[in-house]
Amino acid sequence: MSAAPDVAVIGGGIVGCALAAFLAEGGARVRLYEREAVAAGASGRNSGVVQHPLDAALAGLYEESLEHYRTLGRGFELPAEPVGLLVVADRPEALGPPPVEFGELRPERLEGAELRAAEPALADGLVAHRLDTGRPVPPAAAARAFAARAREAGAELRIGEEAVLAARDGRALGVTVRGELHPAGAVAVAAGPWTPEAGAAAHLPISPLWGVVVEVALDTPPTHVLEQAGVDELTGSAVPESLFSMVTARGVSAVGSTFEPERPDAEALAPRLLARGARFVPALEYAAQRGLRACARPVSADGRPLLGPLPGVDGAAIASGHGAWGITLGPASARLVADLALGRPVAIPPALDVSRFLTPRPSTRQS
Ligand SMILES: Cc1cc2nc3c(=O)[nH]c(=O)nc-3n(C[C@H](O)[C@H](O)[C@H](O)COP(=O)(O)OP(=O)(O)OC[C@H]3O[C@@H](n4cnc5c(N)ncnc54)[C@H](O)[C@@H]3O)c2cc1C
Repeated sequence: MSAAPDVAVIGGGIVGCALAAFLAEGGARVRLYEREAVAAGASGRNSGVVQHPLDAALAGLYEESLEHYRTLGRGFELPAEPVGLLVVADRPEALGPPPVEFGELRPERLEGAELRAAEPALADGLVAHRLDTGRPVPPAAAARAFAARAREAGAELRIGEEAVLAARDGRALGVTVRGELHPAGAVAVAAGPWTPEAGAAAHLPISPLWGVVVEVALDTPPTHVLEQAGVDELTGSAVPESLFSMVTARGVSAVGSTFEPERPDAEALAPRLLARGARFVPALEYAAQRGLRACARPVSADGRPLLGPLPGVDGAAIASGHGAWGITLGPASARLVADLALGRPVAIPPALDVSRFLTPRPSTRQS
């Protein structure tokens, strides 16, 4: 592609790759800039489950993303049925109430022999809520499949190029790469936790929350997705340092996870994650570590995505802040922002619109 693209996309994670695919399929000339590799961030190193986010404001994105995943192909395979999520606790008082507002997930409290029968891999003495959700997928499969779809539709993927939104007098000019302006008709920033820096708007309320996940292969892994109770609170002052989780996709189990603002020492944390995990799944005591994933969740101030036009910069849009739910919600978020850039009628739900945090600014970074 020699001429300036209609849209430059910054970031090659699940959101940026899906954006590039939808834009190119909508007829736009698209160039995506990824500084490292497709799925180099959380989109390649997550726990690997598509599941209901248990937040009514996000349910629509989840349902639409399921539809995108059903037809995605290109190495991505969505399990036809959910394997079931068990929210587990080692003390009854830590479990909290069942999420009865999501009746379609058929929440059910299990303990003792009933829990043992539902999930024989669990330790004795636990209590759980079972929810009818959770579709395990290999961690990078979704982003890679959307990247392939974007290329097929004619998008150019510039891998190894770090880009920053360039704007002047309240108008996006394109992106700056190594100090040089690359003009573009519009710019969509989907750089995960680095979106504030890449979007030349340091006031965007998105910050990294690092997680470490250990890969193991058990002879008889749990069939359910397992999550220790408490993972629903990832903003504010009550964020836990670490909670047990376990997701098995294609024979590999991802045992996590941590929630820390700074990049952690993953090697040092791995044995502790497995030791803690063994309190929930005893077979983890003897499990050999096969791999390690460390990455940062892009967490917004209220835990929900930031989507839509960047206030004060015509021709610039943001798609980020998916926190712990980017694989689950990313495709639908990308579709909304792609429709916006393509000039199609689209209504970004107010609970997801980036403008809920930002007031227009007269101009941002000069090119
Ligand atoms: C431990 C862990 C487990 C998780 N498990 C799940 C799960 O099971 N299910 C789920 O739905 N979600 C999960 N998540 C969350 C999910 O992984 C993220 O929300 C999602 O991957 C974010 O996607 P993204 O495209 O916004 O950002 P990223 O994946 O971070 O992608 C951003 C990309 O932008 C690139 N980039 C950054 N700055 C620039 C620049 N200036 N120029 C060019 N490129 C740039 C980066 O290299 C990166 O590749 C998990 C997250 C963690 C940390």
